Amino acid sequence: TPPAHSPDSDTPLGVLANVFGYGAFRGQQGAIVEHVAGGGDALVLMPTGGGKSLCYQVPAILRHRRRQGVAVVVSPLIALMHDQVGALEEAGVHAAFLNSSHSSDEAAHVERELMSGRLVLLYAAPERITTPRFLAQLTSLHERGLLSLFAIDEAHCVSQWGHDFRAEYLQLSLLHERFPDVPRIALTATADELTRQDIIERLSLHEARVFISSFDRPNIRYSIVEKAGSPRDQLLRWLRDEHEDEAGIVYCQSRRKVDETAEWLSSQGLKALPYHAGLDADTRRVHQDRFLREEGLVMVATIAFGMGIDKPDVRFVAHLDLPKNIEAYYQETGRAGRDGAPADAWMTYGLADVVNQRRMIDESPADETFKQGQRGKLDALLALAEATDCRRVRLLRYFGEESSACGNCDNCLHPAATWDATEPARKLLSCIYRFHQRGERFGAGHLIDVLRGKATDKTRQYGHDSLSTWACGAELSELQWRAVLRQLIALGHVVAEGEWHTLSLTDSARAVLKGEVSLRLREAQPEGRTKTSRKAR
Ligand code: ADP
Ligand code: ZN
Repeated sequence: TPPAHSPDSDTPLGVLANVFGYGAFRGQQGAIVEHVAGGGDALVLMPTGGGKSLCYQVPAILRHRRRQGVAVVVSPLIALMHDQVGALEEAGVHAAFLNSSHSSDEAAHVERELMSGRLVLLYAAPERITTPRFLAQLTSLHERGLLSLFAIDEAHCVSQWGHDFRAEYLQLSLLHERFPDVPRIALTATADELTRQDIIERLSLHEARVFISSFDRPNIRYSIVEKAGSPRDQLLRWLRDEHEDEAGIVYCQSRRKVDETAEWLSSQGLKALPYHAGLDADTRRVHQDRFLREEGLVMVATIAFGMGIDKPDVRFVAHLDLPKNIEAYYQETGRAGRDGAPADAWMTYGLADVVNQRRMIDESPADETFKQGQRGKLDALLALAEATDCRRVRLLRYFGEESSACGNCDNCLHPAATWDATEPARKLLSCIYRFHQRGERFGAGHLIDVLRGKATDKTRQYGHDSLSTWACGAELSELQWRAVLRQLIALGHVVAEGEWHTLSLTDSARAVLKGEVSLRLREAQPEGRTKTSRKAR
């Protein structure tokens, strides 16, 4: 039975209020709903959590009330279909889904509801849509004027440039060929121009109006802190200070580190579970379910976790290792705060991360052009990590959006101290240069010992206490030297290579050595400087 009609229940705002209980549209939702409900095609680019679902759900309801029939929603994510259909039915909107999880009885029931014209929304997996049987059903509905709308969710899956290309999506152009007069709305959270063009091309959306939302997530506070001492201790302190008993995700690069970190957090009294592709399917499902249903659970995970997980109250996303690039950082941190309430994106970052990421690119079997692209993306991420100005401005600029200082990132809240590190940088570079001259190569630890004049077996063995650079940098602490070295690596003046991360100079180091350029670097962060305080909120 349809919900009681209030006077304005056939307007977008009426549906929004009566069915969904919301008082206003967010951002461009209102314009999109108006356009699609009126029969226009649309391509919607909106960040995760921006509210894409309402952009087709409200038009679907309006058009059904105008006796225009059912809206067919294409979605690749079974879990999401399930959740959305449940929520819609609860709100009194007749919806169903068709996917491989159904028995044939259940599928037959859904098909009956579909053909009767009673359904408002039907969710279906892309491979289902293009079967002859389903196309015949759509044709029959279309002939009776009961096919109101196609919504294509996760539309970037049609693009080979994207990170999750699905061949079945290519078949969806068929919908336009068969039913050219049925309006279509394609939606994605992938922002880049290349993917956008691909979607328009492959889904024949040339006539569609394009709605691009800001990719800013103003409720997410970005902080990137230096690794100091034990990163997991830093994490624990931060969790206790900022997110006690709150749900969040901690990303690590390796499965082993996921297991160890989850176990360790548990031993410290937190409710933490591991998630990675090495766990069996049952364990993964149980852990995911618990994360969704229980309060205050910390999921320690590899990037295998997250895609399609719709939990609105994730209060933080922490990275113990560097993500692959800025797109990945944005996607992963974007899982925090989908409900719009304050949330944190927090990352620890250290010298070893830079070195490891560079090595992983170098050692990958990909061709050189691809690797060059990867290096460029890593450099952009490192620049974000080393930035002393607003993180959000840099993040958004990466996606082609200009903005001004946000007031809600670590650098805005606690301006980073910088210092003229030209002299120390020259000392460090010339120390590596001395090693070179002697045909030697060393890693960070030994280099810093020599700079600080710290006698060890190794410095004695190599006679390094007689080098001209011996103890030339005793005025800086080890932490400060690590910060200088890390930034020199991030800036590309030094590379660390091989199993032992031995250091060598690049061509660009020469200008620094010669004193032709000066370097202002971020000061090593004593612990606590970037600590964000709850009270500041
Ligand atoms: P997306 O698919 O873009 O990631 P969703 O459609 O899942 O985002 O919406 C994210 C959250 O925002 C959901 O909890 C949704 O109910 C809520 N939301 C969306 N639009 C509005 C609105 N106009 N007013 C209030 N809440 C909204
Ligand atoms: Zn800022």
